[in-house]
Amino acid sequence: MKLLEATKENINHSVEVLKAGGLVAFPTETVYGLGADGLNDIAVSKIFEAKQRPSFNPLILHVSSIEMLNDIAEFSNEKILRLAEKFWPGPLTFILKKKDIVPYIVTSGLETVAVRMPDNKIALELINKLGKPIAAPSANSFSKLSPTKAEHVAKQLGDKVDVILNGGNCNVGVESTIIEVTNDSQILLRPGGVAKEEIEKLIGELSESKFNSDSPNSPGQLKIHYAPNIPIYFYDEEKLKLFVNKRIGGIFFNEVKDEKKFTDLKLLSAKGDLHEAAANLFSYLHDMENLDLDIILVEPIEKIGLGAAIMDRLSKAVNKFI
Ligand code: AMP
Ligand code: MG
Repeated sequence: MKLLEATKENINHSVEVLKAGGLVAFPTETVYGLGADGLNDIAVSKIFEAKQRPSFNPLILHVSSIEMLNDIAEFSNEKILRLAEKFWPGPLTFILKKKDIVPYIVTSGLETVAVRMPDNKIALELINKLGKPIAAPSANSFSKLSPTKAEHVAKQLGDKVDVILNGGNCNVGVESTIIEVTNDSQILLRPGGVAKEEIEKLIGELSESKFNSDSPNSPGQLKIHYAPNIPIYFYDEEKLKLFVNKRIGGIFFNEVKDEKKFTDLKLLSAKGDLHEAAANLFSYLHDMENLDLDIILVEPIEKIGLGAAIMDRLSKAVNKFI
């Protein structure tokens, strides 16, 4: 790890680190972010590994211009443009329909992506020079306090990031407000740095919804976790015998088993690399949804490192069907 002052040279160096798929912690006006090239799925997988989060969560993509936003999401909604004009750069995040270029690991498999433009010169310069959005959750370990100083990041994640850019204290200190505005509804998903009333002055009343990861599909709540719409179970030989004359999709870690029994097969990582496996997980599930299969069987993997997050996500998907 290198703790570097945010000089022009060091920002340029950080851009090279991001281009090479590395992790750079950087200041935003809310808290320090743990950043990776938001369009590089392997790089994004390293964020989850570094945070030691036992599960995947959709990440916010940080942009430096409306053109960049255009590359990654649909935002024809006129209210969103008005809000962006007033509050960007700033702590307001929009949930928008994602374009194909955004890897599913960023959205945890969802078709929507969270986007904002941070109000911090260092962050904007970093994104602008990279020329791509930066995916960044707060730069703390899972369950630890969010960092508002570079030293907080160094203490928690020092050995897990390539560079920490020191840009002093974050001045907002609370997370961004998250809203989803479509033609049919406008919902406050998380209160944060921009007050609800300020948003309502511009676009009218917001309905409220609390994130609830335990029952993401309950009425009035947005789905924040993806699960495939085909029944999915963990693979083992006995399980496989239960499904006769079925079209079965198999997802294995690094080596296929019972090859002839499957209609479609995917390897998460032929070389057994957990970053690659994590990067492929959600897109493979999406691919299989489009294949007219009866069920998906997925091989359990060891719960070490990113394996724990992968297994957490798969267990939740499997539980939906048992
Ligand atoms: P942060 O922790 O500030 O990086 O914010 C990330 C938050 O945004 C998490 O609570 C996510 O659940 C939420 N989020 C990100 N993407 C989406 C999405 N596509 N739909 C709904 N919520 C999202
Ligand atoms: Mg956080």
